[in-house]
Amino acid sequence: MNAKSKLRSEELTHLAKEFYKYKIKYLEEHSNKSIINYNKQKLLEYFQASEEDWRNWEWQMKNRVNTTDVLKNIFNMSVDSIANIEKVSSVYRWSVTPYYLSQIRLASNSDPFFLQVIPSICELETWGSNDPMGENSTNPAGAITRRYPDRAIINITNSCPSYCRHCQRRRNIGTYDFDTSISKINDSILYIKQHPEIRDVLVTGGDALTLSDEALDKILWQLNQIPSIEIIRIGTRTPVTLPQRITPQLVKILETYSPIYINTQFNHPLEVTEEASLACKMLVDAGIVMGNQMVFLKNVNNNLYTVQLLNPLLLENRIRPYYIFHPKNIIGTHHFYISVSQGLEIVKGLRGNTSGLAIPTYVYNSENGNGKIPLSPECLAAEEDEECIYIETWEGKKITINKK
Ligand SMILES: *Cc1c(COP(=O)(O)O)cnc(C)c1O
Ligand code: SF4
Repeated sequence: MNAKSKLRSEELTHLAKEFYKYKIKYLEEHSNKSIINYNKQKLLEYFQASEEDWRNWEWQMKNRVNTTDVLKNIFNMSVDSIANIEKVSSVYRWSVTPYYLSQIRLASNSDPFFLQVIPSICELETWGSNDPMGENSTNPAGAITRRYPDRAIINITNSCPSYCRHCQRRRNIGTYDFDTSISKINDSILYIKQHPEIRDVLVTGGDALTLSDEALDKILWQLNQIPSIEIIRIGTRTPVTLPQRITPQLVKILETYSPIYINTQFNHPLEVTEEASLACKMLVDAGIVMGNQMVFLKNVNNNLYTVQLLNPLLLENRIRPYYIFHPKNIIGTHHFYISVSQGLEIVKGLRGNTSGLAIPTYVYNSENGNGKIPLSPECLAAEEDEECIYIETWEGKKITINKK
């Protein structure tokens, strides 16, 4: 090894050091399951249920927690915090699977699980809007949302296993669960049939996988019959909030309609539990291509190391980090909001420090249904003249690119 290479190699090892220390500390935390096991036992006791019930997704759905009674029973929460949850739940409903609830290590705002599913008093702030994506003006038929020439969304349900406090579709979640009516589904299918330029259909909700196997099979079958559809994408957070939903029977159905792409939403590395990993493995082994759409959330993942840990962990599970969404100004979610400049800073920090495969596109979902806009730190930093573009490498070294 020449002296120059040796020096550079030492420099790189030094650059890796701080993150590596953080990673080791995290792995210790991740492998400590004592609190989670304790929570699970308490929940099983509370519901007088068995391990077998726990593994059953329908049991998990039926026993979604939505009263403070269970919280009082399991977590040591103050009277004030319980009163705040009650106050918010009279405005916005909440609901969480026993599985996801059991992952809460600390019933406070420093816990990524707690933050994402337990109502916060901050939700009552009046900041933000109800429909910043203009979904009400992009609905040409049935349950279709169309903002692009060659692809469209079909919303098959409003229900989700757990209601994310940061949800951008808060407005649709309402006060009770309902699946899209058969006639609306049929109208949607007809619209897609009549528009053969649509080649990519996203089946989502809510959470598309809250439907029964039979109902889902029927919709996928209908879509599959349309010759112009090349791929079907499914939007679901069940691998994260209800991994028990991924059963061999479901996988078999999905396999039938290949090519299927599933996009899910892991927001924090601790969400990649053994159960979640297994669910994703079953899907990927069946030839389903998985992607992740993370949302930047203040106090959950708005720091470089959390994302630098999460994304390679997803790759290890054969899930490609696809998008990072900039949070929207949805009413009730102010406490999750971060600035674009902080988001750009984090995405910039990934480049060079981790595999290119672990670097998703950072996107801004524009107002009034005008589509997603990529936000790229490299381009924003670029200076240019007639001849050249001047950019910086991940370490801030200046580079000149000839335009011609
Ligand atoms: C996000 C979105 C899509 C998919 O966009 P991609 O960039 O292809 O992932 C399609 N239709 C609508 C309405 C969307 O909001
Ligand atoms: S799973 Fe998706 S649609 Fe459902 S509450 Fe969470 S973010 Fe909203």
